[in-house]
Amino acid sequence: MSFFSTRGGSCVTASQAILKGIAPDGGLYVPAMFPPVSLDKIVRMADMSYQERAVQVLKLFLEDFSIPEIEKAVEAAYGPDRFDDPAVAPLKKLDAGTWVMELFHGPTLAFKDIALQLLPHLLKMSAEKNKENREVCILVATSGDTGKAALEGFRDVPGTSCTVFYPLDGVSDVQKLQMVTTGGDNTRVIAVRGNFDDAQTGVKELFCSEDFAAKMATQGKVLSSANSINLGRLVPQVVYYFSAYADLVHSAEIAAGDPVNFCVPTGNFGDILAGYYARCMGLPVNKLICASNRNNVLTDFFNSGIYSVHRTFFKTLSPSMDILVSSNLERLLYEAADRDGELIRVWMNQLKECGSYSVGDQRREWMSDMFWGDCADNKDTLNEISNRFHQDGYLMDPHTAVAGHVLRQYRTKTNDTTPTVIVGTANPYKFAADVLSALGGEKAEDAFAASEELEKRTGVPMPEQVKRLKDLPVRHTTECDRDKMAEAVLAD
Ligand SMILES: *Cc1c(COP(=O)(O)O)cnc(C)c1O
Repeated sequence: MSFFSTRGGSCVTASQAILKGIAPDGGLYVPAMFPPVSLDKIVRMADMSYQERAVQVLKLFLEDFSIPEIEKAVEAAYGPDRFDDPAVAPLKKLDAGTWVMELFHGPTLAFKDIALQLLPHLLKMSAEKNKENREVCILVATSGDTGKAALEGFRDVPGTSCTVFYPLDGVSDVQKLQMVTTGGDNTRVIAVRGNFDDAQTGVKELFCSEDFAAKMATQGKVLSSANSINLGRLVPQVVYYFSAYADLVHSAEIAAGDPVNFCVPTGNFGDILAGYYARCMGLPVNKLICASNRNNVLTDFFNSGIYSVHRTFFKTLSPSMDILVSSNLERLLYEAADRDGELIRVWMNQLKECGSYSVGDQRREWMSDMFWGDCADNKDTLNEISNRFHQDGYLMDPHTAVAGHVLRQYRTKTNDTTPTVIVGTANPYKFAADVLSALGGEKAEDAFAASEELEKRTGVPMPEQVKRLKDLPVRHTTECDRDKMAEAVLAD
């Protein structure tokens, strides 16, 4: 399998795409074709573990990796020391016809662990395959969640290191605590005196600086990126769509071949895009429901065919979905444009220069066949948390609740009764204070107090990952100014 750039160029192997992250022409790497998976094969997955299912799906994309290599990476990523549920991505039934797929059983309690636990191993092997024997250094600017997930993924993976920059006053107490207590000999966490934009711009400048690359090279190091457009983050996410379907067949909730919907809380469009890839490979998916918060640029896009960033940016209760430019959408556009890289280039230039582009009615209709976009505001989100808890006894985090609300709207508007899996992206204790307030709780002193109160009220056990946080020593205390980030990375 080779990979092309969405902007027309490149023909690279999987390992090269993973190592490079982004194509030289600025495009995203897409597979030359979607490898078909027969219904027979899907049915056979019903009796497999998550790890075995992962190998079946990954090997179709990662053709320049051997099966033992893929098995080794999967074992290291999804073992019991990393995921607190042996099913890795277990399904929980809410009511007849509705399930939540829980993607938050990893070390940082959010869905990004599924990809970021595997990526470091794929990256290390990709370096070896391409005779890259320098240390692969990952740089991340984070507004909270991605940084910790990357740190946990790269922690103590030989041949790699991970440096995370976070804005000194821009992350929550729990997020900061999660990062600065990270273990491992190859992790670094640095607070930037500024906001998230300062951290992000600084990291982007480092990626573009030849001078910085040369200095890193003299230290025997090469830069790489772990952000969500990396192919190595996309492919692991395709697995859980197959896994959810296999689970439903296994428990006889559906018959093999029955269509299923997935309702996905969406920000950068990486999670739901993996569902689209699974559908293209033959998974019987009816609709992919794209759930947004008040930053509903995607809702408008699916309804109008126009993507426009001329809008206000809102901070919401689901911060990991507070995004105006969903970078992975470019991969769907590529298919909508019949793989015309030139057209993608035009649209992306319009987005950059005018802040919008239009795909036209025909392509919008083509997308509407598979996608449904809708949104939930903060009030909808809090109501959904409360309703699901009181009706179904299920405690949702605010991101998952956005999807829960949107699914209700979808069903009311369409009368579609297809069985539907809500993709659950974070553990409710990661957002304990907001979840507690949704249930009518008083404002707690801090996140730990909120968690204790939430556990008392709901009986849902607090995860070890939160409990442990209280007693872990702080290991990372470095701060730096926005214009001193290069020095901070180069200093040892
Ligand atoms: C990143 C994230 C999302 C959004 O996923 P995308 O792939 O960016 O669409 C949703 N929920 C949580 C908790 C996340 O961390």
